[in-house]
Amino acid sequence: MRRLYEPEAYDTANWPDSHWRATAPPPPHCAPLDVAERADVAIIGAGYAGLSAALELREAHGADVAVLDAGQPGWGASGRNGGFACLGGSKLSDAALARRFGAAAAQEFRDFQDAAVARVAHNLSRYGIDAERGPDGEVCLAHRPRDWTRFRREAEADELELIERADLRAAGLHGPTFHGAKIAPEGFPLHPMKYVTGLARAAIAAGARLHGDSLVTGLAREGGAWRLTTATGTLHAAQVLIATNGYSSDDLPPWIAGRTLPVLSTILVTRPLSAAERDAQGWTSQRMAFDSRKLLHYFRLLPCGRFLFGMRGGLSARPDRLAQVQREARRHFELMFPAWRGVETERTWSGLVCLTGSLTPFAGAVPGAPGLFAAFGWHGNGVTPASEAGRRIAHAIAGRENTNPRLMQQPPRRLPLPGLRRTMLQLAYIGYGLRDGPMRAA
Ligand SMILES: Cc1cc2nc3c(=O)[nH]c(=O)nc-3n(C[C@H](O)[C@H](O)[C@H](O)COP(=O)(O)OP(=O)(O)OC[C@H]3O[C@@H](n4cnc5c(N)ncnc54)[C@H](O)[C@@H]3O)c2cc1C
Repeated sequence: MRRLYEPEAYDTANWPDSHWRATAPPPPHCAPLDVAERADVAIIGAGYAGLSAALELREAHGADVAVLDAGQPGWGASGRNGGFACLGGSKLSDAALARRFGAAAAQEFRDFQDAAVARVAHNLSRYGIDAERGPDGEVCLAHRPRDWTRFRREAEADELELIERADLRAAGLHGPTFHGAKIAPEGFPLHPMKYVTGLARAAIAAGARLHGDSLVTGLAREGGAWRLTTATGTLHAAQVLIATNGYSSDDLPPWIAGRTLPVLSTILVTRPLSAAERDAQGWTSQRMAFDSRKLLHYFRLLPCGRFLFGMRGGLSARPDRLAQVQREARRHFELMFPAWRGVETERTWSGLVCLTGSLTPFAGAVPGAPGLFAAFGWHGNGVTPASEAGRRIAHAIAGRENTNPRLMQQPPRRLPLPGLRRTMLQLAYIGYGLRDGPMRAA
């Protein structure tokens, strides 16, 4: 299989020891695909996208659905992310989307994002998933005075709450590198593993067949249908959904080659902080937060009192290189939250997010391949859009209209020089790092 990173990134025998795995009941154990099976629809990938599609195909269309994952449900990014259920999905700003696709298409995508947040909230209540939902709203912290000036301008046009630097401590959002905050009302934090496990259980209860430890190594047309091959079996289905996101292979199907840019992200979680430690830093809010850098940091206080801190995860999945990046993340954490320098990291792990050559997500039919669909490219913000796009693509698979935003139905461009994607990423990191400037106290 042709993949961008070292084999360690895709080693499903090794499920990282994340905070989420340590604090959630294990997901349902799904047996591998055995011998030969048939289904109306085969879904590759049991994360938010694949499971949401499976649920909709069962609940709304009564389709016979089989979901195959190389690991167990939630093994990919869906079981190891920051748990920010927020707006997002593209790397382009609203203004850039409007320039490229027109104002109406940009608004349609914005409406989709709102629906995606509501979808996750609805899933939690509908399936009785206790995913430790936290307070509404997402905080963006200005890391330079000029970003604070920009926030003030934006607040005139949009529904945003602003917090001056002097008031950050009272708001429980203080750090020496922050120049002020803007708070968007949408979104909420959750326990990502509990959420994906809840979706997997709901999909099984709805009648979907889930197969774990079933890496699909072959996808070919046979007798007017698709034949999926794993180490232990085959699955024939008239329709197939590729929902592999950052864990995609460049040859499954070959059409996807060079259209994805999988990117590593890394997270550390501290031991529980005492109330005195939280007060000493001035960070007591459980709202999800990130800073205004291009190479952003994302962080939040968890309901258990631990602190989660994440950032880009480097260019290699080799264990020594991951360890190096995790040390770098710790250094950034200490610069941004100096009162917690002595607070130990309890767990740290990494995973793959997925960008596309168009910087917008895709949820549509694969051109020239009858019955083949794909949904991927959430640009590091997949909790909500993968949940919603998975639902909507199910209708297209069932022969109805694809109600995903028009801009998400356009196949992503192929990246130039796909063989050099990691080198390009390295250059982008250098450029963005220079643009962001050094980390220093406000
Ligand atoms: C460290 C980290 C932090 C993040 N933080 C956030 C956040 O706070 N908020 C947010 O919105 N998003 C966040 N994301 C991104 C978000 O987790 C993803 O966008 C989302 O989970 C993608 O869901 P998915 O279902 O599309 O793919 P995934 O959950 O990645 O699932 C893809 C699945 O496909 C399977 N697969 C791949 N190839 C094959 C094959 N050939 N055969 C069988 N199975 C295969 C994999 O095993 C995997 O389980 C983060 C991601 C990471 C890694």
